[in-house]
Amino acid sequence: RLVGLTGNQFGGCMQREKYLNYIAGEWVGGDESSENINPSNISEVIADYVRADRQQTKHAIEAASAASSDWASYGVQARSELLDEIGNTLLAQKESIGTLLSREEGKTLPEGIGEVTRAAHIFKFFGGEVLRQTGDLLPSIRPEIDVEILRDPMGVVGIISPWNFPAAIPAWKIAPALAYGNCVVFKPADLVPGTAHAIARIIVDAGVPSGVFNFVMGRGSVVGDEIVTNPKVDAITFTGSVETGRSVAQTAVARMAKFQLEMGGKNPLVVLDDADLSNAVECAVNGAYFSTGQRCTASSRLVVTDGIYDQFVDSLVNRLERLKIGNAIDPNTDVGPVVDKNQLNQDLYYIEEAKKEGAKLAFGGDLLTRETEGFYLQPALFTETDNDMRINREEVFGPVASIIRVSDYEEALSIANDTEFGLSSGICTASLKYATHFRRHAQAGMVMVNLPTAGVDSHVPFGGRKGSSYGSREQGRYAQEFYTTVKTNYVGS
Ligand code: NAP
Repeated sequence: RLVGLTGNQFGGCMQREKYLNYIAGEWVGGDESSENINPSNISEVIADYVRADRQQTKHAIEAASAASSDWASYGVQARSELLDEIGNTLLAQKESIGTLLSREEGKTLPEGIGEVTRAAHIFKFFGGEVLRQTGDLLPSIRPEIDVEILRDPMGVVGIISPWNFPAAIPAWKIAPALAYGNCVVFKPADLVPGTAHAIARIIVDAGVPSGVFNFVMGRGSVVGDEIVTNPKVDAITFTGSVETGRSVAQTAVARMAKFQLEMGGKNPLVVLDDADLSNAVECAVNGAYFSTGQRCTASSRLVVTDGIYDQFVDSLVNRLERLKIGNAIDPNTDVGPVVDKNQLNQDLYYIEEAKKEGAKLAFGGDLLTRETEGFYLQPALFTETDNDMRINREEVFGPVASIIRVSDYEEALSIANDTEFGLSSGICTASLKYATHFRRHAQAGMVMVNLPTAGVDSHVPFGGRKGSSYGSREQGRYAQEFYTTVKTNYVGS
């Protein structure tokens, strides 16, 4: 929806919409804005989005801080209904917001609409959780005293999100923050502010009290930095790259703020000799290439045992040949474009590096031309790679996967775990013995059996180990660990 029109700014013939920030209960403009470009058609500017400056971000944080105590004691029924209504409105607008998401981020229309649906379900889930909050009541070890354990809100939660899930990630941070009684300052990724703006608009229109929810678009180095450094932000929830996450952590630790990080992945999909071949190929295609491979849970390492190796490679290449790469909103498209020029350059860089390291490009890796100019990259598959190559150690974050040949299950497990990341880990096998062993010994926050490494439910914990995550889990009931702080009351008679 349109919030504030800039007027006739492009040669008198075309008006472009300018979308504003929401701070302290007001939609506010600013001096600078970002052009939101459609990666399927780079001549199309979706709209302009105002970038907040440091002063405006401070103002948003102050407003959130001032609203904290009233929101913490706001009635749970009203809070529950508010979140449920946000979820319902998102569901009602899933087609239009999903289309906007696909236009600005480049994932296909079903993926875009699916993501908005998931965001809606998250709001509705936490609408229910508001009414299901519990505490503990225990007898004290001293006579005539009760011990009551409750959870208080953290206060002001700063939310910093990446570009690859512009609806789901904001939803899985904003919904629990509000549900557990916190006020929010939310900064979406500068690259994809449109979907976030649409969600913010729905939250505001649902009637969230002034100051409780603040929406500040802009640069990480300005808006993000202010959120991380400002002493009035009690807790910071961040999803993004390892590099930024590390700097967020250092700053947060220095001022002893609570923080939670979700970062990269180099997720393995193990395929054993006894796997159902067609399911294993579908898991690999879905996990490695859908959403243009731009998922933290993407299966970028395919670890395949000798006995099925040749068949698997042939079938996978055959399947990749049939994938349709195109405009994100074309209903025939299987894989949309890469999100922007920088990410495309990173993908191409890693493709070249892999070749230099001796990996064999078995399929793809070329730039593609389509009706409209966009960042179209043919999915790339490398074979003859080993786990020490950079292509298998560093996150590419594009439609690029590599196959590592192993002799047996034991070697597969060891390679799967040999990574500095630990987000999602998958296995395709018909063997109960190996599936069970893998579930027990995979060093990852999420383990998938005969399923793609990507694609998770909205009501259960999400997160990883090692370099992929830091702090408590997101989503589901486990989210309360981050968004609340425990208080132990001793009650004498
Ligand atoms: P990014 O570059 O680290 O950016 C993430 C967010 O941090 C953006 O909003 C960014 O602002 C902001 N930021 C940048 N510098 C900052 C600073 N100094 N202080 C505070 N905030 C700052 O990551 P990305 O490229 O958007 O996202 C891709 C990464 O996210 C990949 O590594 C992917 O694996 C990871 N990811 C992880 C998960 C998970 O749950 N584990 C889920 C999705 C994505 P700008 O808008 O200005 O860049």
